[in-house]
Amino acid sequence: MSDFDGLKALVTGGASGIGRATAELLAARGAQVAVLDLDPSSVDKPLLAFRADVTDDTSVREAVAAAVADLGGLDVLINNAGIGAQGTVEDNDDAEWHRVMDVNVVGMVRVARAALPQLRESAHAAIVNTCSIAATAGLPQRALYSATKGAVYSLTLAMAADHVREGIRVNCVNPGTVDTPWVGRLLSKAPDPAAERAALQARQPTGRLVSAAEVAGAVAYLASPLSGATTGTALAVDGGMQGLRLRPV
Ligand code: NAD
Repeated sequence: MSDFDGLKALVTGGASGIGRATAELLAARGAQVAVLDLDPSSVDKPLLAFRADVTDDTSVREAVAAAVADLGGLDVLINNAGIGAQGTVEDNDDAEWHRVMDVNVVGMVRVARAALPQLRESAHAAIVNTCSIAATAGLPQRALYSATKGAVYSLTLAMAADHVREGIRVNCVNPGTVDTPWVGRLLSKAPDPAAERAALQARQPTGRLVSAAEVAGAVAYLASPLSGATTGTALAVDGGMQGLRLRPV
């Protein structure tokens, strides 16, 4: 796992949460890492920071080109930027469906399109998409979000097939409930955030939330040459939620 020496990685959504933990882990393990984010102002050295909106193709192309130029190539793409959505199909209108799909699905496509020519030049090319247990779990009150992550899962499999003979591996991680600023924002809307957090933890098989560092560890494995024969897979990082056939309420 420590063998990221000489590898160059790009992490989208790398200014916060899972992306931040992943960027820091890859850098600690020897990779040169560039972060692409809507707001990279909090990103410090040795990480390189590039501002881009994954819903804007020009912004993505320019940021990926600048990151590749500064890194001197690209071996690893962590396609992680994403946003949430709550509710049933009756709760989100067409504009909201298009907005969240645009970030969570087409955003990953735009970044991959911009990065693939460079990844083809790498001897250790890997893409890791941040999916979710929502892709396959049938979570209540998450219709739109689940549909985006279902699409990310299918996209991962299709890209793995398309690029396997080019030596580019494509996998995804399926996190459960991860203790990131995103979950903090959701909990802060509850009447009693501390009680809501305690209830959320109690619903986890492990009795606690997954940490961003634990997701980063799985991402790092799938991005590293240690997983060189693994492509087209989803690795659950959910404290047993899926494997034990449990689900959040
Ligand atoms: P977060 O909100 O802490 O971080 C997301 C980052 O993505 C932020 O830095 C944000 O600025 C960036 N971002 C958002 N929209 C962007 C855009 N249009 N262009 C560029 N950057 C953008 O969230 P997180 O919890 O770390 O989530 C990261 C990923 O993990 C998402 O894809 C999410 O769906 C997935 N995920 C999270 C959880 C969880 O419980 N936190 C569970 C499963 C999957």
